[in-house]
Amino acid sequence: MASTKQLKGQVAIVTGADSGIGKAVAIALGAAGATVIINHVSCDENADAVVAHIKKAGGKAYAYHADVSREDDVKAMFAFTIKKYKTVDILVNNAGLQKDALLIDMSLDDWNTVIGVNLTGQFLCSREAAKEFIRRGVVKNRSAAAGKIICMSSVHEVIPWAGHVNYAASKGGVGMFMKSIAQELAPHKIRVMGIGPGAIQTPINEDAWETPQALNKLLKLIPYNRIGQPEDIGKLAVWLASDEADYITGTTIFIDGGMTLYPGFADNG
Ligand code: NAD
Repeated sequence: MASTKQLKGQVAIVTGADSGIGKAVAIALGAAGATVIINHVSCDENADAVVAHIKKAGGKAYAYHADVSREDDVKAMFAFTIKKYKTVDILVNNAGLQKDALLIDMSLDDWNTVIGVNLTGQFLCSREAAKEFIRRGVVKNRSAAAGKIICMSSVHEVIPWAGHVNYAASKGGVGMFMKSIAQELAPHKIRVMGIGPGAIQTPINEDAWETPQALNKLLKLIPYNRIGQPEDIGKLAVWLASDEADYITGTTIFIDGGMTLYPGFADNG
């Protein structure tokens, strides 16, 4: 990967950027020269801290509060960004949550909330981004593409997950949503890609790594034998958004230490 500022002059919106993977992606995009909108829905303090981190490193960032599952909020976030920064070049659909329960115990509210944020949120943000990318088109010396959309998926795009059916359904949906809009938007020179993280050490899965016992159990699912770090995802996001990845569209890159390699079969099944 080149160490120059590959995203210089570009504007990125990262959803759910005040924590975990979104925070690391925002910091990495900022370090690569992009101006980053730190979307957040919870406390302002964490988002302000990410903005301060990026600015301290010489980058540009702005915190913006919006619930990605609400159409009005998403439209307002894009309108604000385009007014303030003239355009948007990169969208990272990262916001996501879990509300776990067995199927027979799962409430409709918990189903709708997870689908609403993890899947509908990606639809609402991608639609606004695509409108702006199509309006503006390719700008010479900025990027070879008219725009880039990165959809945060999961290994659960392909690995079924009992007790988490709303989450797995949302990520399976993200996979087909990403491919379908990639097909639709490619003629406009817009690239759309998925990132499928395995186990990354963030607040969303704290109970899977907070004790040595839990971590040992988790590591049995990871052939590469380490838990992922948010920075692993940040580096991939920068590369995917850059012109170095200009021929990549419509595919999910799994970044999981081998979690999708069916580790249970390593000893002859
Ligand atoms: P996290 O809980 O640290 O971060 C999730 C972020 O999404 C938070 O900033 C949260 O406030 C935000 N968010 C939730 N609802 C929102 C809404 N309605 N509007 C805007 N923002 C909202 O968890 P994380 O691990 O950093 O997760 C980030 C993404 O990565 C999620 O999409 C998650 O499904 C995915 N992912 C995580 C892992 C992992 O192991 N950590 C693995 C695979 C996929």
